[in-house]
Amino acid sequence: MSIREGRLTRFHTPVEEYDYIIVGGGTTGCPLAATLSEKFSVLLLERGGVATSDPDILYENRSLNPLLYANHDDSPAQNFISEDGVPNTRGRVLGGSSMINFGFYSRANDYFYENSGIEWDMSAVESAYEWVENSIVTRTDGLRKWQASVFNALLEAGVGPDNGFTLDHVQGTKIGGSTFDDSGRRHGAVELLSKANPEYLKVVVHAIVDRVIFSTSKPLAAVGVTYHDSQGKHHEVRVRRGGEVILSAGAIGSPQLLLLSGLGPKSSLLSLNIPVVHDHPFIGQFMADPPRNGINLLVPVRLLDVGVRVVGITKDGPYVESTVVPQIASIITFIPFLNFIPPSNLSVVVVAGKVSRPKSTGSLNLISPFDVTVSPRVRFNYYSHTEDIHQCGKIVEVLNKVLKTPAMGEYKFPGILGHNRFSYIGPSLPKDSSDEESIATFCRTTLATFWHMHGGCLVNKVVDSNLKVIGVNSLRVVDSSTFSSSPGTNPQATTMMLGRYIGEKILNERAASDTRS
Ligand SMILES: Cc1cc2nc3c(=O)[nH]c(=O)nc-3n(C[C@H](O)[C@H](O)[C@H](O)COP(=O)(O)OP(=O)(O)OC[C@H]3O[C@@H](n4cnc5c(N)ncnc54)[C@H](O)[C@@H]3O)c2cc1C
Repeated sequence: MSIREGRLTRFHTPVEEYDYIIVGGGTTGCPLAATLSEKFSVLLLERGGVATSDPDILYENRSLNPLLYANHDDSPAQNFISEDGVPNTRGRVLGGSSMINFGFYSRANDYFYENSGIEWDMSAVESAYEWVENSIVTRTDGLRKWQASVFNALLEAGVGPDNGFTLDHVQGTKIGGSTFDDSGRRHGAVELLSKANPEYLKVVVHAIVDRVIFSTSKPLAAVGVTYHDSQGKHHEVRVRRGGEVILSAGAIGSPQLLLLSGLGPKSSLLSLNIPVVHDHPFIGQFMADPPRNGINLLVPVRLLDVGVRVVGITKDGPYVESTVVPQIASIITFIPFLNFIPPSNLSVVVVAGKVSRPKSTGSLNLISPFDVTVSPRVRFNYYSHTEDIHQCGKIVEVLNKVLKTPAMGEYKFPGILGHNRFSYIGPSLPKDSSDEESIATFCRTTLATFWHMHGGCLVNKVVDSNLKVIGVNSLRVVDSSTFSSSPGTNPQATTMMLGRYIGEKILNERAASDTRS
């Protein structure tokens, strides 16, 4: 495998051809590229760089730093603010968002398999998960102080049963896996590229794909892409007959590229003077971002176990996770109300719930009709559906129970007459979970992202059950943009599995068609 800077391939050289061109070397794109390279030539184009020696990317106790230092232009984490006004982030680095995330690893829930619309062969799903897990997932062996307290508190609050350690999605409280190992070192999706056939895989970084190129005669098919490098030079690459262009550019990047390439709602393309290649009304629609709501507590103990290892999967829907905020000398703007740097003998913890399947959805629209580096406008319409407020009320209910447990007792500060109290940074929880108005106010004021956004290229609306773009040959979308619900408590396990799963499926289908012909 060769990893090159985009500028090494010049536009004026003969057009290069590959069996598969994958756009986006992220969480899904890396396992997909590694798998397809077992039999076919693959070009993987990633707009970001390689960050495998950056300590802020590599180490869990520095895992908030990429978000703090994110900019719009070239950092591994790219900041954006949705039109809802909520700060958000997506990966821009080889390995994608798996290189800037918090590493918690947990497989998808049954609801996802049953409702995703993707054609699943569950034994192939199992072996795809194992392929990922045997390489980069650490099975948590023993919890440190804060995660142990959270585990006990969830059980004492009634989020049972105790499921111990498992990678599976099961109701109750469990310890999950992590892409951070026991020494706190990250193993992101980029490491799955080491499983590739190096003869057949070429990775080009700082290669920003501008457009998909289509056939000029019928039937409509993708035949290649154009991209530009960090010097602004343009390149064109093509797929061989029988090959495909596969978009794995994530929930923002994939719908954005389709729209820029002339696939999308006809009226909005025409309003931007983009020539319509194919009218696709649902591209950029059904964008969702499960809300995160919770509390920040200042606790009278110095805690060192940054990161998430435990999740409570409640009967009512919400998932509960918690982390210690690392001791950093900077205000963390993406955690609501955390305008406070604690003294070194104290710690701040965030205890939060995820609305697991928000009914509120929004859309993605282009700002620039030609420049892919201009982030599109995204609106998730958080809490526009009353059912989501109801779900947030369930988060409030379970967090109130968690705070009342004996396991949380030692995290209170001494008060007068022996009445120990929690010290909140920001709003405390509404006490009465039947008071709909105060619940709604709490949910809206403490709203933040869990960074689990999805949608924009949904199955059965934009792509079919094999993730092929409907109405266009030789073009697929394989990433979180195809999901109509967030898979399980945290999505990265499923996105990596999906890359391997679809890669294997393509290899099997090609082998079967070669045998027939
Ligand atoms: C801060 C944060 C914390 C998170 N924590 C967790 C967690 O603890 N556990 C968990 O399971 N999930 C977590 N997630 C979510 C999870 O990481 C994502 O859902 C998942 O990685 C998305 O995978 P993807 O393949 O769809 O997209 P990505 O991994 O984002 O990959 C898309 C890739 O495409 C590239 N790209 C985009 N446009 C172009 C273009 N035009 N040309 C070339 N390349 C392009 C991008 O640079 C990127 O590398 C977190 C996410 C974030 C941001």
